[in-house]
Amino acid sequence: MDLKGKKVLVVGLGASGRAASLLCLSQGALVRATDNHPSPANAGELAAAGAELSLGGHRDQDFAEAQLIVLSPGVDHRLPEVRKAAEAGVPVIGELELGWRHTRCPSVMITGTNGKSTVTTLLGEILETAGFKTLVGGNLGRPLCDMAPESGQADWAVVEVSSFQTDTMDRLRPRVAAILNISPDHLNRYPDFEAYAASKLRLLANQADDDVAVLCADDKPTWQRRSLAPASLWGYGAVGPYHPGGWLDGEALILETPAGQAALSLGDGTLSNGFNRLNALAACLCAAACGASFEAMQQALDTFSGLAHRLARVGERDGVIFFDDSKGTNVGAVAAALEAMERRVVLLLGGQDKQGRFAELGPLLGRRAARVVCFGEAGPSIYQQVVGFAPAEVAPDLAAGFRLALERALPGEAVLLSPGCASFDAYSGYAQRGEHFQNLVEEVCRG
Ligand code: ADP
Repeated sequence: MDLKGKKVLVVGLGASGRAASLLCLSQGALVRATDNHPSPANAGELAAAGAELSLGGHRDQDFAEAQLIVLSPGVDHRLPEVRKAAEAGVPVIGELELGWRHTRCPSVMITGTNGKSTVTTLLGEILETAGFKTLVGGNLGRPLCDMAPESGQADWAVVEVSSFQTDTMDRLRPRVAAILNISPDHLNRYPDFEAYAASKLRLLANQADDDVAVLCADDKPTWQRRSLAPASLWGYGAVGPYHPGGWLDGEALILETPAGQAALSLGDGTLSNGFNRLNALAACLCAAACGASFEAMQQALDTFSGLAHRLARVGERDGVIFFDDSKGTNVGAVAAALEAMERRVVLLLGGQDKQGRFAELGPLLGRRAARVVCFGEAGPSIYQQVVGFAPAEVAPDLAAGFRLALERALPGEAVLLSPGCASFDAYSGYAQRGEHFQNLVEEVCRG
């Protein structure tokens, strides 16, 4: 993609917009960068690198003058200014598409409602163990535009992809793509579930039959749409067989790939819980499609320590175990966490409302939740949805909710923060919320 002398408008100046702007500047483009915020954190660096800044709102003129518009994932592609420019014939792409067009090594892309970061990280570790020079990033960590300049020396780019990023793809074609699951999420940005699912499926659209699509057969919304995959289809699920593909046999992962069959062991660590066994299958199948050996997979499975804030055990007091699943930010993730728990739980649900349908947890709450404590902005509305299924109460915020949960939890039970909501009502992100929870746990475990 020749950007020399091209007028490029980059919209949104977070990490992705920063990386897109710097990539375009390095290619000789004339970059104008715009953000609603009057002084975004990256403004100084971008101005020094040669970008023209247009801050504190979006101006029609910026969009009208552009020859290419690059959107950050946080920017809604249905923004009126963007639509108008697109209708006038200005190409509009996302940061991921731009990064892919400048990536010189093959890519593996992972999407799904839940599990993306875990699979992306584990896959990166397997490929590194197998001796491949691997770039790992995307929606997690480094944006693809940031990694692209190094891709000439890499064997693989492993990229986590969110639905906001597939919304703005165009020609992007991953050599290997995985869809882990599709459950209702972000329904404040999509008109309905069908539109959200269609967005995820776009990741497969440009693949050809010599590419590989790894799809979870246990996830109905994903598997039902498998005929839309033009690539060679590799399925996986708890019960096999899949040819090619992977399944579970007791504690073992069974893989059947063009390179042969293998049984791998998950041990009793973080990968042995319900949903992580499927995540491990997805990562191993992607790794097999990239040419990694079964030995490298086993070695990486043995050493993988899991990611923080994903169903992490963070303390124990008087027979009560505390789990931090702050990254469980939608109802599907809460369901997966509850399914994976071996104890009855006092469940902390709440945060910023994303219009999740908590009533869908009903029977599962009945089986697994001794009690639900609903906190934060969405607390009262969640309470209304769950109170018929388990004893429930409302607390104003996480700290108050934690105190209630602590009082209620009985020896042999667990206190689980799997909030099913975004965190932005009170925190900068899920990590800050998880750290707050861990501090609360530490205090009581110490005291
Ligand atoms: P993502 O990057 O897609 O948000 P993560 O790997 O960060 O995914 O996990 C986020 C949360 O999703 C976890 O805390 C857990 O509650 C849930 N989760 C992880 N993997 C799965 C899965 N395969 N199916 C359902 N839920 C999952």
